[in-house]
Amino acid sequence: MIHDLDVTQLVGALRRREVSALEAAQHFLARIEAQSDLGAFLATDPEATLAQARAADARLAAGDTAPLLGVPIAHKDIFVTRDFPTTAGSRMLAGYRSPFDATVVDRLAQAGMVTLGKLNCDEFAMGSSNENSAFGPVKNPWDRARVPGGSSGGSAAAVAARLAPAVTGTDTGGSIRQPASFCGITGIKPTYGRASRYGMIAYASSLDQAGPMARSAQDCALLLSSLCGPDPDRDSTSLEVPTEDFSRALNDDLTGLRIGVPREFFGEGLAADVRAAIDAALAQYQKLGATLVDITLPRTELSIPVYYVIAPAEASSNLSRFDGVKFGHRAKHYTDLLDMYKKTRAEGFGEEVKRRIMTGTYVLSHGYYDAYYLQAQKIRRMIADDFRQAFTQCDVIAGPVAPSVAWALGDKADDPVASYLADIYTLPASLAGLPGMSVPCGFGAGGMPVGLQLIGNYFGEARLLNAAHRFQQATDFHLRKPEGV
Ligand code: GLN
Repeated sequence: MIHDLDVTQLVGALRRREVSALEAAQHFLARIEAQSDLGAFLATDPEATLAQARAADARLAAGDTAPLLGVPIAHKDIFVTRDFPTTAGSRMLAGYRSPFDATVVDRLAQAGMVTLGKLNCDEFAMGSSNENSAFGPVKNPWDRARVPGGSSGGSAAAVAARLAPAVTGTDTGGSIRQPASFCGITGIKPTYGRASRYGMIAYASSLDQAGPMARSAQDCALLLSSLCGPDPDRDSTSLEVPTEDFSRALNDDLTGLRIGVPREFFGEGLAADVRAAIDAALAQYQKLGATLVDITLPRTELSIPVYYVIAPAEASSNLSRFDGVKFGHRAKHYTDLLDMYKKTRAEGFGEEVKRRIMTGTYVLSHGYYDAYYLQAQKIRRMIADDFRQAFTQCDVIAGPVAPSVAWALGDKADDPVASYLADIYTLPASLAGLPGMSVPCGFGAGGMPVGLQLIGNYFGEARLLNAAHRFQQATDFHLRKPEGV
């Protein structure tokens, strides 16, 4: 079946003309339609998709060698797209259509990919369970009573349920890694600045990064090579480093690889089932020739208050553009301009987004700026310094992605702080701007997937993908799929 093929296999099948781009697109569209109760997709437009697929087939017939020609992909609804509506999971943008494509979307289209539609996510990417979407939650394909993780929950669920061979996600504080972990798939967040943020609806600009999510590290490497690259005219924080072939080192031997194991990632809060899977994965790495090095990231716990000051601060500024004037929702009844702003924002934003705007405005306000925002910035720098120190002793860092497997829908919905605390292991790399990934490494309570987090040094993506790929050559966790899929 077409949906059993991964990206690498699909590329081959398309080139050999065993399957056409049109057939692949039709096959996945039918699956998406049949499984709409998962809640993974917010928008499809078969006509637009099939037109893209026909164009890909024409390119294939003409001998075009674009690396991902004809392979279907779906995008997190935080990337703006011309052919599909864009909502960022918010009522504020219901019905919005962008006049242009995000750079990431554009780059993947240039590489030949065919867009299947847009994926559900937490509103403006704020959340860890996808329950903050204004358009309903996403169910975890491994257990529909559980969350898929967030904020890229629709993305992860779509890959796990084989509704798309690959998807995009964004990661501000863990939103690629944590849902990948909860849904048993592979995802990578590159070094901050590798991927253009142009057309990615901004949450916290100094942290936001795009990345691919797929079944294997090999697929992620292929996708990442097309997705990254400088975009100097449109994103001033995109790095002037040339496009790389991230697949080049996939098969390198791991003998002598020094894996740093931060002791703070194995503290009290880590569930025993997750810990057991991580320990087994580390033992597997030793078998592959790597050595484990005990390291310390002493400010791991502080990453939670630091992140939940800085991210809301940036969000409060970024989200000021949603005022009912230029785009999106506008209140129907109002008395004057100020009243229009107030009612528009009161109606358009969900509870969590409002909470963050209020927190962010508070920590930036005169009198509190020094005590909160400035202090958080200082500690952010120290967290980056801790990593710098750690990387003098090791080549990559490994630990859990999250303290537990996916929790039940509704479990943390009324307790934002409980959900913030569960971000502890993904926030440090985000604050430091380091690349990080999640690799399926076992199963825990309820048969739910567990992800191993690998954190690399700046620009260390090829190394990370190599470590992940060798692990996946030796294990089959990434090949397992939920029952009935
Ligand atoms: N869970 C974190 C938050 O709510 C991270 C989200 C993300 O990476 N977009 O902010």
